[in-house]
Amino acid sequence: MSDTFYGSDFEALEAFDPEISSVLTGELDRLRGGLQLIASENFSSPEVLTALGSTLSNKYAEGYPGRRYYGGCSEVDKAESLAIERCKSLFGADHANVQPHSGASANQAVYGAFLKPGETILAMSLPHGGHLTHGTKVSFSGKWFDAVHYGVDKDSEDIDYDEVERLAKEHRPKVLLAGGSAIPRLIDFARFRAIADEVGAIFWVDAAHFIGLVAGGAIPSPVPYADVVSFTTHKVLRGPRSGAIVCTEQHRAAIDKAVFPMMQGGPQMHTIAAKAVNFKECATPEYAAYTRQVVANAKVLAQGLGEHGIRPTTGGTDTHLSLHDLQGVLVTGVDAEARCDAAGITLNKNAIPFDPQKPNIASGIRVGTPCVTTQGMGEEQMRTIAGLIARAVVDGDADPEHPVSREVRAQVTDLVEAFPAYPRPASA
Ligand SMILES: *Cc1c(COP(=O)(O)O)cnc(C)c1O
Repeated sequence: MSDTFYGSDFEALEAFDPEISSVLTGELDRLRGGLQLIASENFSSPEVLTALGSTLSNKYAEGYPGRRYYGGCSEVDKAESLAIERCKSLFGADHANVQPHSGASANQAVYGAFLKPGETILAMSLPHGGHLTHGTKVSFSGKWFDAVHYGVDKDSEDIDYDEVERLAKEHRPKVLLAGGSAIPRLIDFARFRAIADEVGAIFWVDAAHFIGLVAGGAIPSPVPYADVVSFTTHKVLRGPRSGAIVCTEQHRAAIDKAVFPMMQGGPQMHTIAAKAVNFKECATPEYAAYTRQVVANAKVLAQGLGEHGIRPTTGGTDTHLSLHDLQGVLVTGVDAEARCDAAGITLNKNAIPFDPQKPNIASGIRVGTPCVTTQGMGEEQMRTIAGLIARAVVDGDADPEHPVSREVRAQVTDLVEAFPAYPRPASA
């Protein structure tokens, strides 16, 4: 370790706290030992992790670069300014706020910037692919705001834009929100913009899931259409666990005031430094190629599962994730998740549109390719993985000792040994 850097000293932690250090190594073993298909996860780089494990964590820096409430901010100001500039240039945005602690915190700030309690937002419903923070009753967003929800069309299983327009005209929302956590298809931002303009609404895109694909140029950007775009930095984007917001010049002051002091206190400067590192990574040709491969892999995985009777909703995907209907193989989402888990495959159960099951049972699973693509896997491996998932889901069992669990797990082990997550140094 460089003697001018202090942080990320694993040996010292191991000596002081063997219990927590064994959690850290245990988690790394878990990541390395199985297939991670959770669509919202990724493996950030050692450089990002190094920034996270730095002394910037100590610094109080309430305010913004050059306008802080504390002294001693000269170095962290540089980190935040770099993060802001890199974020703006990555997305071609007028303004960026890189302080939100997470996707939910970023969303809270957007509500704070544009809505008073009781005002109306029109957003995608959670069971059709939205997000908890988009006005569900269990979230601040549904408790404090009047949320109206649109969904997907029964036949296409894609966003019902006519319904969006009808509801917008009927309810005249202050804010129209697009985005969600289980939307496999591209979103028609131009159509949303036109609907927002028709009713005088702010157009907000929650791009948490797909912003990484936008950063790499693999799918179209919402930035030219939206008033404001909130996102997480830890999903396809592959940065630290955190959030950010970009917006037009017109909304700069409202967004900055809503993040601090309205919703948050001191920013996490170590995470902001890590976001700066991540935005630099995202501007490279390697990252652009990565995002194209993420989408190519997701298409093959979705199709492969479909060939095994595990139908992709909407018929496939344009992004990093697909949603699958298990009713054709007579397995519930909760059972599929448990069977895959026993076979070394981590994925999540998910409600499908018009799901006859309760959300905690669900008729579907959601799979995503950010992690396996970071490991270097391609289309050939996706076909293999589709077969392994189908074998575990259809013939397997939640018992890890069941012969099918063992059989699939052995093949998962071969695959992850050929494409390791966080490869060990050659000498080790
Ligand atoms: C993941 C996600 C969020 C929340 O992000 P957190 O960092 O978990 O708070 C918000 N909106 C959407 C659409 C998401 O997918």
